[in-house]
Amino acid sequence: MSSIVEEILSRADIVEIISSYYPLKKAGKNYRTHCPFHPERNPSFTVSPEKQIFHCFGCGVGGNVINFIMLEEKVEWKEAVRILAEKLGISLKEWKGENTLYSLMEKASIVFRKFLLKPEGKSAFEYLEKRGVSLEISEKFKLGYAPPVNWLRELDDFSSQDLIKGGLALEREKEIYPYFRNRVIFPIFSLTGKIVAFGGRTLEEIEPKYLNSPDTPIFQKGRTLYGLNFTKQEMMKKKEAILVEGYMDFLSLFQEGYENICACLGTSLTENQALLISRYAEKVNLLFDPDEAGEKATLRAIEIFWKAGVMPRVVVLPQGYDPDSYVKERGKEGMDRVISQSEDGLEFYLSKLQKIEEGNLTRILEKCFQAWEEMKEIWRRDEFLEKSAHLLSLSLQTVKDMWVSYRKKRRFYLPNVQQLPPSSEIHLLSLLLNFPQERQNIISKIPIELISDSTIKGIIEKLGKIEEEINIPKFFEKLSEDEKRVLSGVLMKEIPHKDPLKEANDCIEKLKQREIGRLKVEISNLEKEGKWEKVVEILKRLDELKRRRV
Ligand SMILES: [Zn+2]
Repeated sequence: MSSIVEEILSRADIVEIISSYYPLKKAGKNYRTHCPFHPERNPSFTVSPEKQIFHCFGCGVGGNVINFIMLEEKVEWKEAVRILAEKLGISLKEWKGENTLYSLMEKASIVFRKFLLKPEGKSAFEYLEKRGVSLEISEKFKLGYAPPVNWLRELDDFSSQDLIKGGLALEREKEIYPYFRNRVIFPIFSLTGKIVAFGGRTLEEIEPKYLNSPDTPIFQKGRTLYGLNFTKQEMMKKKEAILVEGYMDFLSLFQEGYENICACLGTSLTENQALLISRYAEKVNLLFDPDEAGEKATLRAIEIFWKAGVMPRVVVLPQGYDPDSYVKERGKEGMDRVISQSEDGLEFYLSKLQKIEEGNLTRILEKCFQAWEEMKEIWRRDEFLEKSAHLLSLSLQTVKDMWVSYRKKRRFYLPNVQQLPPSSEIHLLSLLLNFPQERQNIISKIPIELISDSTIKGIIEKLGKIEEEINIPKFFEKLSEDEKRVLSGVLMKEIPHKDPLKEANDCIEKLKQREIGRLKVEISNLEKEGKWEKVVEILKRLDELKRRRV
């Protein structure tokens, strides 16, 4: 772990940080407040000054101070570290490699901008003019131009490695070449407004028409949305977003006054991009090209947004228009009208699927169920079942029956996230955390394959790798989201312990008995089916288990 993170975790006081956002009330050893992450009447959001973690007994979120900032400020891990470093006055000099890339991007954008405004940028300038991009927008979004000549010379403060690492140069036979040539340049910004990459529109008749920077240490295409840094505030205010496909669509709508808009980077929508939008909006209007590719992208986007918990609507443009040409011809008024007439996502999805699946209702519903089974809000799924029954002219009972049989088919390989881990497994975990001197001893006795809860199993395995005393907030940095929820809950519960070794033995004995019971059932099933070879195999395992001493 980088020492910056260690320093932050040792210097930040979680109570102080959280109480700068929400009023905390003392409750015993801990502090309480109403959970900022789910609606509730009685406060169940708990902060422990002793353990330096938080946990909500209502919705289950939990973690260390970095995790709190991530949730509260709706930022990625790195940005949360940055915010905390700033609050604590810790300098981030160590992240120099990254800082170099950020300043390279900043410098490159200045170079591109300069070319656009010089005589050699005439064709690019005229292109933007023809597309109706105002000078104000061109400046705000730092549009630029990469000429056909070797412009890398303008960046000679940076090493060739940095130019390649930042995605601005390609290496061929030990020579480096510019990645973008004769293209209008659209800088791509991070959520905090730093330039992290570029998109380039060719001015020649070549493919690809649009070219994006490759992924770099500071840019992941699938986790970035164009323009969101400028529009997230408005999106949050309206709780509604507009999603378009490309840079030009974005710019012309933004220019017309749409400020709750963002664009995929010319590629199909990813789940991470949808989750990004879900931080700010509850509803999204999909405004894609009305051609076949656009329609496919729309169907896929609907499924992805359902999973992300954002309700999609589809704006249908008349044939022959794209969002850019439509808003230019009809103005904001015309665009407002088509947006207000947008079609409900489910209605659009079902009517398109009717055509694609040629009216095969089972296939249509299976596709829906696939998209709905991961929905977090169960009431919404019930609503969808009802609505789809209505739209497909089926009885609600028929659709519900199909849903139940679909679930049965899938149940065997779907993880059940709602189920609580068995209490003996929670108890074991609590022992491991509270008795560091017995930790390795207890871990060595636990038959890890008998731990049925995969999250607890994961935590125990990670604990097993730590020899020294556990620093709780630091340990959280090694955990997955599920592991953080479970562990913060176990830590806050303060399960009383008297005799750690005896309790550990009791828990392990329970795990053994449970497994023995399970194997017995399996044997009787196999006997009924006459699978004798398997029976012998399992009897052997049963015997081993019974003889194993705790
Ligand atoms: Zn909560």
